[in-house]
Amino acid sequence: MKRFLILQCLVALATMAYAQQPRVMNDDRTYCHELGCGSRKIVSIPNIEGYLTLKGDFHMHTYLDDGSVSPKARVREAWYDGLDVVAMTPHIGVHKTDCVHLKDYNLPYKLAQSEGKKVGVLVIQSAEITRKKPFGHMNALFLKDCNVFEENRYLVDENGVLLRDKNGDRIPNRATEMKDFEAAEAQGAFIIWNHPGWPDKRSTLYPLHKKLIEEKRIHAVELFNGSEWYPRVLDWFDTYKLPMMANTDIHAISANIYNRSLRPMTLVFAKERTLESVREAMFAGRMLALFGNKLAGDAELIKKLLKSSLQVRVIDEKRGSIEVTNISDIEFQATFGKEQKYVVFYPRTATIVTIPQGAELDFANCLAGRKSVKTNIW
Ligand SMILES: [Zn+2]
Ligand SMILES: [Zn+2]
Repeated sequence: MKRFLILQCLVALATMAYAQQPRVMNDDRTYCHELGCGSRKIVSIPNIEGYLTLKGDFHMHTYLDDGSVSPKARVREAWYDGLDVVAMTPHIGVHKTDCVHLKDYNLPYKLAQSEGKKVGVLVIQSAEITRKKPFGHMNALFLKDCNVFEENRYLVDENGVLLRDKNGDRIPNRATEMKDFEAAEAQGAFIIWNHPGWPDKRSTLYPLHKKLIEEKRIHAVELFNGSEWYPRVLDWFDTYKLPMMANTDIHAISANIYNRSLRPMTLVFAKERTLESVREAMFAGRMLALFGNKLAGDAELIKKLLKSSLQVRVIDEKRGSIEVTNISDIEFQATFGKEQKYVVFYPRTATIVTIPQGAELDFANCLAGRKSVKTNIW
């Protein structure tokens, strides 16, 4: 027995010694460590007073509808790109990839959610109701079951064959559009009106949308989608205070699209890092759209984010000499004074500048509707 114990100890020691050896480094096989590990980009956007700032993308596709990567890979990409919360939004009734004909619209969420748990990215169960304009495309978020919507976006005969009009075009199944909308509402969904300027390059506020916005049944609209944005949405923000979002609607691979810049995102100001908190924040409208170095949404939220991003150290109070450290990854551009002096606060950079105490800065890239945000920084 004693001999057996000694043998066991020797084996354990040998295993430990082996584990502590550097990994193989010889002419046959040499590691390139710096290329071997996936790393998450830390996107620096500070919390604001009372809330956590969560970075989200609430519109993405996978190879289960018409995208090119798996739900698991989407979540990994989001993690690499520094996001905190995402929504898989499979198109209802669109099957454009060869590999699969999606029958269970909950599957993208299920697969993404299990990966999200591993890497700490929150995943929202969602779907994209996908119809021709004027109804257009709408995302329904926080669903419990994504299999309640009409699969046939176009009219079919009793054999399931598409009906065509005299021009040979498919005939939209208009009768079921609002049924789908109401089915989402019945689950308490957060409803986003997607890409209002796509595909016809006309951001038309149709009577249907006007009514749904006035009735507060559409909860947000995309100001930005993918690589385009719709300035007319700023007018709707001014009129209806309709929260604006920036989502990627990503179909391809994120590294191919956003590798040169900060990935577009919607900032959500949540009480906690939980789905319930995200939901509460979204319904309360605590969101800002961030894309192409533009920040858009409620003026008070933007001011709070400016306050936490731009840290001021006073050098000479009388002369107004200050050091401003921008701890965020957003570049803030502003003008101030009678002469409209121009100042840029670069990301993660300190700037020494002379700005009189209480002077109002006009932040050109911070849009509270059509107007830019004006505030003092000290
Ligand atoms: Zn769409
Ligand atoms: Zn989409």
